[in-house]
Amino acid sequence: MMMKSAIDISENNLMLLSTVDLDEVLEAVAAIVMQIVDVRAVAVLIWDADLETFSNQYISGPRKRDFKKFVEAYAEQSCEDATAGGKKVSEVDPDDIDVRLAAELLPVFCYRVENSEKRCASILIAGASDADDKTIDDQLTSYPLVQAISNAWEVHELRRENERLRARYEELEDQNCMLQEQTRQLIHDTMHKSAVETQLAQKERLVYSISNAVRSSLKIQEVLETAVNKIGDQFKLSRCVLFRPLNSGEELSVFEYCHNSVQPCRDLFLSDSAKDFVQMSMRTSVPHDFSEPETDTQDVFDREFLLALKIRSGLLVPIIIRDRNIGSIFLQDCLAPRDWSIDATALIGSLADQLAVGIENAELHKEKEHQAVTDGLTGIANRRHFNDTFAKEFERAKRYGEPLSLIVVDLDFLKKINDTYGHQVGDAAIQTIGRVLGSSCRANDLPARYGGEEFCLLLPNTDVEMASNTAERLRKLINETPVDGPGTISASIGVANFPLHASEPDALFEAADEALYCAKESGRNRVCISSNLSE
Ligand code: GH3
Ligand code: MG
Repeated sequence: MMMKSAIDISENNLMLLSTVDLDEVLEAVAAIVMQIVDVRAVAVLIWDADLETFSNQYISGPRKRDFKKFVEAYAEQSCEDATAGGKKVSEVDPDDIDVRLAAELLPVFCYRVENSEKRCASILIAGASDADDKTIDDQLTSYPLVQAISNAWEVHELRRENERLRARYEELEDQNCMLQEQTRQLIHDTMHKSAVETQLAQKERLVYSISNAVRSSLKIQEVLETAVNKIGDQFKLSRCVLFRPLNSGEELSVFEYCHNSVQPCRDLFLSDSAKDFVQMSMRTSVPHDFSEPETDTQDVFDREFLLALKIRSGLLVPIIIRDRNIGSIFLQDCLAPRDWSIDATALIGSLADQLAVGIENAELHKEKEHQAVTDGLTGIANRRHFNDTFAKEFERAKRYGEPLSLIVVDLDFLKKINDTYGHQVGDAAIQTIGRVLGSSCRANDLPARYGGEEFCLLLPNTDVEMASNTAERLRKLINETPVDGPGTISASIGVANFPLHASEPDALFEAADEALYCAKESGRNRVCISSNLSE
């Protein structure tokens, strides 16, 4: 056996003990073995902590290439055997390892390195032909191989454990991030869902409350006022305007919700500058979505007006009943462009339908009410309405001690007019009187067609002198108004006053009738004041 120089070995010893890097230790161990035993190849195999596999290996020596395959096969086959106790140095039977090994590499000795009774490394020594297990044991035991390998192994295992823990930590960190993301998403989804549900419920409530208001109230002004406020509030609008032309377009009725962050636009709608916009709105039968009028290149239907409104986005929904456009709801946002969703447009459309029904009902109701109190031929109050008002005004006059005058007017010679010019001319004569009475009395006076060709004019808070002046003025006006056929007509007028001529309604009527009779008797086309004296 060849002995190596003590200096070389002590250098290696120094290196062995000063490093904890496993690869360097393996290299140094292999170098020491090569120096103290004359061998062809040396392999140092490091066991895994769980002894299931070799985690590191280092092969050295002139025949290391030939030895490599053998070492790998040994590493695979010998893991389990290696856990069993036994001698420190043993010769490996090449037949146990299923790899052909060159004769120069025989014998192969295995030197077991143990760490706290656990095997941590195996040193395979090949081709030490002049050595036996005992000499190898003696030679190697005198060097701190075990100590060095064991230290490096422990450091290595600790590093591996550290890496495993770090990997596990990162895995947990990833899982944690994923869970946090999922939780965030879940919270977001839940909040979104509940926001959508709340919005939906609010919108359902909006439709319900408006349709309820439409059904239960004939006061359409109040309903429309409520509707614009609710829509404006619900859709967080800058403004919500509902406009509808009245009296064949001569007037515009405007209801407005206006958020306090913007200027109201009602006056603008009532001004001339809105005329084109309103006219165009009345011709449309579908909703219009206005995006920023400043930048929108589409042909928006009145850019000037939209610019004056300073809107950034608008939705115009027509109010249509039986193919007739009766107005529009105009939702406006002055702060930001909006995407009016199909849902919002459909919702406003259905509200517009409800309002259309409400508006039509209210108009019909108003028309019926008007018809109930109006005379069809002359357009002034009818007998029933007059009687109701007369009774109330009499009560009032009595209670407050105010005078009340009654004028009765009868067309002269109507029978003759009818007979001469026909019934239609007679009607025209009656209408002439209705027009004169309707257009030339005060707002508080009530003109009415009492029946046939007899008219009444009730003058609250009017003394007899004022009443007779009025009667005279009317007589003249009637007489001066031309009528096709006879050319002119005349009327006889009787005047009576409370409290001067009567103290009860019927008596006042009788007194006025008597005065009328008197006017007829004294030649017609004249005014007579009652000669009756109140009891
Ligand atoms: P007098 O000056 O005395 O009042 O004569 P008169 O012909 O007006 O009065 P009289 O009471 O004799 O006849 C009233 C006529 O008025 C009879 C009736 O046919 C007619 N008359 C009543 N109501 C209407 C109506 O709605 N239209 C028309 N064309 N004639 C009516
Ligand atoms: Mg008459």
